[in-house]
Amino acid sequence: MIDVLVAGGGPVGLATAIGCALAGLSVTVAEPRVTPVDKACGEGVMPAAVRRLAALGVTPDGYPLRGIRYLDGRHQAEAVFRHQAGLGVRRTTLHAALAERAAALGVTVQPARVAGFEQHADHVTAAGLDARYLVAADGLHSPIRRTLERETAAGPGQRVSRRRRPAPRYGLRRHYRVAPWSDLVEVHWAAGAEAYVTPVSADVVGVALLCARAAGEPDGPGDGVADGPVDGFAARLTAFPGLLDRLAGAAPASALRGAGPLRQDVRRRVYGRVLLAGDASGYLDALTGEGIGTGLAQAGALAACLAAGRPADYERAWRRVSGPAWRLTAGLLWSRNQPLLAPRIVPAAQRLPWLFSALVNHAAQA
Ligand SMILES: Cc1cc2nc3c(=O)[nH]c(=O)nc-3n(C[C@H](O)[C@H](O)[C@H](O)COP(=O)(O)OP(=O)(O)OC[C@H]3O[C@@H](n4cnc5c(N)ncnc54)[C@H](O)[C@@H]3O)c2cc1C
Repeated sequence: MIDVLVAGGGPVGLATAIGCALAGLSVTVAEPRVTPVDKACGEGVMPAAVRRLAALGVTPDGYPLRGIRYLDGRHQAEAVFRHQAGLGVRRTTLHAALAERAAALGVTVQPARVAGFEQHADHVTAAGLDARYLVAADGLHSPIRRTLERETAAGPGQRVSRRRRPAPRYGLRRHYRVAPWSDLVEVHWAAGAEAYVTPVSADVVGVALLCARAAGEPDGPGDGVADGPVDGFAARLTAFPGLLDRLAGAAPASALRGAGPLRQDVRRRVYGRVLLAGDASGYLDALTGEGIGTGLAQAGALAACLAAGRPADYERAWRRVSGPAWRLTAGLLWSRNQPLLAPRIVPAAQRLPWLFSALVNHAAQA
């Protein structure tokens, strides 16, 4: 019997595996996709995440990021990271670096999808293996979380009535071959959508769009390649004329990928010997760009709880490490969803640079 089976070899699953291996536990990761795994992401790794990766012995190549710039066509505001630079990193590069470190520590990766599991008094059986613990790091729409919620009637955590709930948001991303024009992550704001520009190398920038799904587009959960007969990405970019000017003539450098709906309310993270981490454990929005950093913090907390043989402590540890980023994202998302407040976000950031800097640095360290 192994100590830990991790379902999902994304950044959080691999970081959990590395943390557990460093703590002396035997670990296998089940990941159905081929390394290096790509995913729709803004690819801005915040300073705290860079630090957490380094603590695991993972130092991916990337483009140093000095801070954040908000723009809305008429206003702009900049905030510089005070303590350490962030890093723009292609997901494939990040995945390869994490996978390499995990392999060096003796973590086995099994090319498998965890389709079901059985929980016993002292172990869990899944993917043909017996493990003392099963960690579900299987992403936003975690099949394992859904099974657990169904079996225990816990249900998803969302309590807001359907009428008051804002439209679900989705993410799309594509890369362009063009030299970065800034070492700040640019967040372009338009009515109902934001475009994130993150340099990831000397000649490629990533553009991630966050928005509600347009009328006529297919609904339902998704995470994958989003290229279709209608280029909805190009159509949506027209809401950002300043960005379109920057990208004029630049060739796309990756397939279009999408993910969503982003918000996943989750009531609990610990179901006996099955524990949730990363996006699978609950997610609000990519608005503040700290999903990887928060997930890495959860991975560290989870590895410590499992190494100590105290899985039940993880729920409180999860709340402690996830709370700061969660509250910040919730606040900004709430403002974003208020018709009167939303157009005032970038002007306010420009008028109150000290406040903008404090919030950006709070997010950077969260
Ligand atoms: C548009 C967009 C922009 C974003 N921008 C940023 C940003 O700039 N900075 C940032 O820090 N975060 C950003 N995020 C958030 C970030 O991408 C996620 O928080 C992060 O990927 C979470 O990692 P994870 O390992 O939990 O999940 P994932 O990266 O989704 O990995 C889950 C893995 O589980 C595997 N899997 C699925 N089902 C199973 C199964 N049944 N069995 C085994 N394996 C399975 C999948 O193949 C996948 O590899 C963004 C997200 C979106 C959508």
